[in-house]
Amino acid sequence: MNILIIGNGGREHALAWKIRQSPRCSKLFVAPGNPGTAQVAENVPIATDDFSRLGEFCLAQSISLLVVGPEAPLVKGIRDYFEQDPKLQHILIVGPGKVGAQLEGSKDFSKQFMVRNGIPTAKARTFMAAELDQAMDYISTCKPPIVLKADGLAAGKGVIISLSQTEAKAVIKDMLVNKKFGEASAKVLIEEFLNGIEVSVFVLTDGKDYVILPEAKDYKRIGDGDTGPNTGGMGAVSPVVFATPAFMKRVEDEVVKPTIAGLQKDGIDYKGFIFVGIMNVGGTPYVIEYNARMGDPETQAVMPRIKSDLVDLLEAVGKGALQGKTIEIDPDHSVTIALVSGGYPGDYEKGKAIGGLGNYEPALVFHAGTKQQQDKVVTEGGRVLAVSGKGSSLEDARAKAYAVADQIQWDGLYFRKDIGQDLLNFKI
Ligand code: ATP
Repeated sequence: MNILIIGNGGREHALAWKIRQSPRCSKLFVAPGNPGTAQVAENVPIATDDFSRLGEFCLAQSISLLVVGPEAPLVKGIRDYFEQDPKLQHILIVGPGKVGAQLEGSKDFSKQFMVRNGIPTAKARTFMAAELDQAMDYISTCKPPIVLKADGLAAGKGVIISLSQTEAKAVIKDMLVNKKFGEASAKVLIEEFLNGIEVSVFVLTDGKDYVILPEAKDYKRIGDGDTGPNTGGMGAVSPVVFATPAFMKRVEDEVVKPTIAGLQKDGIDYKGFIFVGIMNVGGTPYVIEYNARMGDPETQAVMPRIKSDLVDLLEAVGKGALQGKTIEIDPDHSVTIALVSGGYPGDYEKGKAIGGLGNYEPALVFHAGTKQQQDKVVTEGGRVLAVSGKGSSLEDARAKAYAVADQIQWDGLYFRKDIGQDLLNFKI
C-alpha cells in the first residue's frame, strides 16, 4: 500500500525508517519531510496544515494510509477534514479527530476526562482571568511546590513549577491577565506537585483494543544532570529499569484500560497513538499528561525496539481491527541522543555544514532540523539530529550511540553526555 507520513522531525524519520521495512509498504511519502526522510521515502513539499493539498496529493498517489506525526494538524482537525470529504473517507488515518486530540490540546479537558474516569492524576483546579481573585485565594491554601499549567498548547513551555505561593501568584497573573502564552493561558490549572520519577508510555489504539509499545524515559533539560532550561527533549532510553513488569501491569490496569473505556464512554472514536506521561510515585502510577501522538525523541528510541511489522498494526488501527493483534518487542536496549545547535533552546545560528554523516548501522542517525543545500547537509533547527544506539545492555547501547555522536561535527554542536547514566545503577 502507499503511505503518507505527515511531519518533518526526527520522530517522522524514525517512523518512516520503520514503515519502510515493511513488505506491505509500496510507495512511502513524507510531507514535508527532511533530508533524513528523503533517504527512505519521497518528500512532498506540502505543509502539515494544508489539508486540501494533502487530500489532493493522497488521491493523486492512491494513498491508503495516512500517519500523522505532530499534534498541530490533529488538534486542527485533519482527521475530521478527511472524514467529511466523500472522496477522502476511504483513507485510513492514524491519529485522532479534533475532539480526541483535546486530550493533548486542552489540559483542562484531559484533567476532567481523568477525574470522570477514575484515572489517577494530580489534584487540580482550573481558573479563568475573571476568576483571578479566587485563583489567588486558592494558591494561599496550596503547599509549594505549586504546579501551574496553561490549558492550551504552549510548545512544551506552558508548565511552571513555583517554589512559593508569592511566586505562584505572580506567575498566574502573568498567565491569565498578561496572557503570557496567548490564548493557551486563557485558562490555567493549579495542580498538586507529584514527587516521583517519570516514564513515557505509548499506546496504539483503534478506540476499542490497544497494544502497548516499548516505554521510554526522556531527558528534557539542556544540561547534564538535568540542569538548565527545558528543551523539546535531549535524549531518551528504552526500556526503563524502574518500569518493572509489576509497575507496567498497574499502568495497564489503572491507566490504559480506563483511558480506552473512557474514550468509548464519551463517544470519542480514537484511532492513533496515545502518549501517556506517567509519574511513578513510590510504585503508584499517576498521569501527568496525555499527548495525541508519539514523542520526540522517544520515537527514535522506541521504533528500533519494535520487531512486529508496524504497517500491519497501523493499518489495523485505521480499520478498527486491532482485536487479537499483539506487538513483539526486542529485549535489547536503545539509547537516543539529541545533537543540537549551540545556544539551543535559546537563540542559535542555522546553516552550519554537518560533517561525519554516514552509515553507522546498527546505530541510526535520524534527522530533525537539517536542510539539504546543494551537496551539503546543513543545520536548520535547534534539535538537528538524533543518534540511536542499540545493544544488549544499557551500557552497550550508550557506548554505541556516543561513539557515533562523537564522529559528527558542526560549528557549535552540543549534546548531553549523560543520557541514561542515571539508570545505570538505578536501585528500584
Ligand atoms: P510536554 O513538552 O511534555 O508536552 P507540556 O507542556 O505538555 O510538556 P506537561 O508534560 O504536563 O507539560 O508538564 C511538563 C513537565 O512538568 C512534566 O514532564 C513534569 O516533569 C512536570 N510536571 C507536570 N505536572 C507535574 C506535577 N503535577 N508534579 C510534578 N511535576 C509535574
